[in-house]
Amino acid sequence: QKERLQEIADVAPMTVDRKFIRLLANINVEKELDQALRNGAGGVGLFRTEYLYMDRDTPPSEDEQFEVYRKAAEKLAGKPLVIRTLDIGGDKRLDFMTLAKEDNPFLGYRAIRISLDRPDFFKEQLRAVLRASHYGNVKLMYPMISSVEEVRAANELLEQAKRELAAQGTPYNAQLEVGVTIEVPAAALIADALAKEVSFFSIGTNDLIQYTLAVDRMNETIAGLYEPYHPAVLRLLSMTVEAAKRADIPVAVCGEMAGDVKALPIWLGLGIEELSISAHSMLQVKDRLLHSDQAESHKLLHELLSLPSAQQIHERLAFEERRYA
Ligand code: PEP
Ligand code: MG
Repeated sequence: QKERLQEIADVAPMTVDRKFIRLLANINVEKELDQALRNGAGGVGLFRTEYLYMDRDTPPSEDEQFEVYRKAAEKLAGKPLVIRTLDIGGDKRLDFMTLAKEDNPFLGYRAIRISLDRPDFFKEQLRAVLRASHYGNVKLMYPMISSVEEVRAANELLEQAKRELAAQGTPYNAQLEVGVTIEVPAAALIADALAKEVSFFSIGTNDLIQYTLAVDRMNETIAGLYEPYHPAVLRLLSMTVEAAKRADIPVAVCGEMAGDVKALPIWLGLGIEELSISAHSMLQVKDRLLHSDQAESHKLLHELLSLPSAQQIHERLAFEERRYA
């Protein structure tokens, strides 16, 4: 099975009705890139940069970050590299940053909220990303966005970072594309407004599910309530995609759900053209993609969106699954 799958690593990711879907990789550290490329990744759709900051006593300097991002950008040789800015807080801690203990860390001081609260610290990362953008197809993404103001504030710091580099004569891509993760229900609900501020969306289903259903993704006791196929999740996905289409910006999916073959008809049905998944799911998803039909998925999605319960959505998708068994 594994060898058979490896044979499709270089096959173009296309549906039976010839719809091309970009399959990108999620990576936590730069060294995961080789495995992703071996599995045919068309780029990196999510580089979780917090791993650069974790398990050490001091933050990575601008230069150190730049070297890592540049290496990844060069290795990708023109394929996209979406660098997500620091997403700390929630379950992730930093040794060099003392954060107050919170009753609800996932609803607390996390990700872009921390970055905007510490502009000088954030700008080191922004300058490192900008500098790397000179060496490949780099894009920047802000995590945990819940308002237009946050995007504007982050972009203002990005502009400052650009001016600082320009003053030094350091090269960067002035057209660097900026996107946001859609992973807070508020962001999905105001996707039309956010779409006017950015060049792309990437839906983070891991957090979107947790926040939509009020189910802590780390809490084993309620793990059974963590339901990716809940109709509320499907509706938010659909709203996000519709808003992106109206604004004519691309939308990717980068949460774990994107690597679940069962969800593929949903992405195809919605008209999503980019999935970012862990390297180990890449070939299975591609295998299914090669046997899927976009037009049929679109009809199926229409049906799924009318179903009132996760159970019925599962049953309908399971019926679909049996056709591939
Ligand atoms: C997500 O929330 O779906 C996501 C991709 O980000 P992370 O898992 O790093 O929170
Ligand atoms: Mg997330």
